Amino acid sequence: MMKADSDALVTIVGGGVHGVHLAVRLLQAELLEPAELRIVDPSGLLESFRQKCRQCGMNEFRSPFVHHVGTDPFSLRDFAQARGREDELRSTRIGAERPTASLFFDHAEWICDRLSLESIHVDARVTDIVDHRHSVEIETTQGCFSTRWCLLAIGHGGSFTYPEWATELASTEPVAHVWEPSFDPDAIGETASIGIVGGGITAVQLATTLARFPGRDVVLFARSPFRVETLEASTDWMHFSGVTENLHAHPPASRAREEVITEARYDGTVPPYVFRRLQRGLERERIQLERSEIETATEAGGTVVVTCRDDTTLCLDKLVCATGFGSPYDGELFRHLRRASTLQTGYRGAPVLDDDTLRWIRQDGTPSPIAVSGVAAQHVLGPFARNVIGARRAGELIVEFLESAVEA
Ligand SMILES: Cc1cc2nc3c(=O)[nH]c(=O)nc-3n(C[C@H](O)[C@H](O)[C@H](O)COP(=O)(O)OP(=O)(O)OC[C@H]3O[C@@H](n4cnc5c(N)ncnc54)[C@H](O)[C@@H]3O)c2cc1C
Repeated sequence: MMKADSDALVTIVGGGVHGVHLAVRLLQAELLEPAELRIVDPSGLLESFRQKCRQCGMNEFRSPFVHHVGTDPFSLRDFAQARGREDELRSTRIGAERPTASLFFDHAEWICDRLSLESIHVDARVTDIVDHRHSVEIETTQGCFSTRWCLLAIGHGGSFTYPEWATELASTEPVAHVWEPSFDPDAIGETASIGIVGGGITAVQLATTLARFPGRDVVLFARSPFRVETLEASTDWMHFSGVTENLHAHPPASRAREEVITEARYDGTVPPYVFRRLQRGLERERIQLERSEIETATEAGGTVVVTCRDDTTLCLDKLVCATGFGSPYDGELFRHLRRASTLQTGYRGAPVLDDDTLRWIRQDGTPSPIAVSGVAAQHVLGPFARNVIGARRAGELIVEFLESAVEA
């Protein structure tokens, strides 16, 4: 692990899928020496994503095996074959097979080890980023340092949403959000009664995982009919060029771009293999489906009493909200940058990015040395910006511009 006290050429903020993939690309392009690169993340490399998969019981990826943190598309398949783990590549109706979560993470760890990424990891949270034109100052919980280029890859930055009726009880003993870092599904009693709120992949996956203990009562509160989709948007969007022109026809960071993304994303959908598990759970009466919307929730002696719009009342030991992430521009760091910096933001605080390089544009219209990868780059890359394939596309664009910038 690296200390946060020496300067760097490139600093990646966030060591998730996007941050790790960017590091892999930069090192494999031999654009810099490992000592000139650092990845700052308080959770450890890929740890936050691994934890989210654990928290919702996701043990198979939705995306195909060619989407992983390495650069060679077939690296994960070859990794599986070399270790006799082909059975961890699961079949799918559309496209290539999908890896299990354990195969995906073992392969990612193997890539990180081969490039010694742990040695350039700084265990700290970034609290501020200041653009000094020819350098960027990175303020962290472990001190301050300077870098020539900063790549921001912080995912949703820790923001998630509770339904309005749950805000007063949020994070109390009986009420949790699935993305709260402290939420631990393994700590729920084997005979508990559990309510899960939400109708998308996370809620359904969590319900089927928790329902594995026959002594539990699992109620899924899903107010709308389930929608089944293999992926999170049309595969056309995975090709980026050709379709992103539709986005780029609108002004950067505009409401019009946001609307194109919202329309293109199949948010709240469930892939067929997860839906089949839900159907089995319902048939075996391991899961009870409550179609009505919760109106009120009250704590009562360590339990929570919920009342639905159709007057159904239930007393539960635990209520878990799987109601999605918040806006990617509303995490702590983005909010701070919006208030304090000279970088341009647009609709709902979206960063104004250059469509060719993902560089964040300054108030004076010049590109800053800060580039963005991940969900916050969706106005440029479209509905798959947050996904593994989005990291690959962002990596191509960022490495291309850095190649010319570093050589100049
Ligand atoms: C359960 C789940 C399953 C998914 N399955 C798939 C799938 O099958 N296929 C697919 O393509 N996509 C999938 N996705 C979507 C997407 O690929 C993942 O969300 C992916 O983890 C996004 O990577 P990221 O690096 O942008 O964000 P994250 O994985 O969230 O990583 C961001 C990192 O930034 C760090 N960070 C945040 N703030 C700071 C700060 N201030 N300073 C320093 N570090 C900071 C965090 O600690 C974190 O490690 C899934 C998402 C979820 C939640």
